[in-house]
Amino acid sequence: MICTLCGSTLINKKDEYYYDCDICKAIVKDEKYYLTADEEKAIYETHNNDVNDIRYQNFTMPITNYVIEKFLPEHKGLDFGSGTGPVISSMLMEKDYDIVQYDPFFAPNQNIFNNMYDYIVSCEVFEHFHNPKIEIDSLTSLLKVNGMLLIMTMLYNDQIDFNKWNYRNDSTHVFIYRKETIEYIAKEKKLEIDILTDRFIVLRKTGYNKDKSAMPSIPQARRLCNR
Ligand SMILES: [Zn+2]
Repeated sequence: MICTLCGSTLINKKDEYYYDCDICKAIVKDEKYYLTADEEKAIYETHNNDVNDIRYQNFTMPITNYVIEKFLPEHKGLDFGSGTGPVISSMLMEKDYDIVQYDPFFAPNQNIFNNMYDYIVSCEVFEHFHNPKIEIDSLTSLLKVNGMLLIMTMLYNDQIDFNKWNYRNDSTHVFIYRKETIEYIAKEKKLEIDILTDRFIVLRKTGYNKDKSAMPSIPQARRLCNR
């Protein structure tokens, strides 16, 4: 199998379900264990996240606080993978923030790919990416220069007992990041790391490339919703 982020050949098995990537340091689920889209959706439907659940609001606080601190209501935001209970965007909308929701299953609004954003938030989504390279490219292409990508996903480190870890044991999780994987992404996509903790990551899109091939690619972004 080929690593779905860096494209290198995966050789080392971490366990029966996962490979360890030597290049980007990700932990990649063996594709034979991927769920179908219908199976995946059925599991998400059981989550029933309630936007008024205080515990869930607190859990997502690193993202909402960061947006409120760094952005104004008129900045354009995208809640990518907003799920069954879009708590972050709901809380921000209550404060008059201009943020739209996208979810391939629960808010499949293709128009979001026609805009560019000052910030994109993505909470507990990145570990579900079957094609992280394509999806991260798409998200980066939707960001304005100096735009921020705010990610919540649990990073693996060697202190964690992998076999017992709920992130490993969630059947919808297919791609697990280490700190080094985030650094790999930042370097490859020319993103600057603003925050990198074990569960909250902020990356800033830097520079401006006059080369047209580096301009945002809408068709590529669209592919992601038709998977
Ligand atoms: Zn890799």
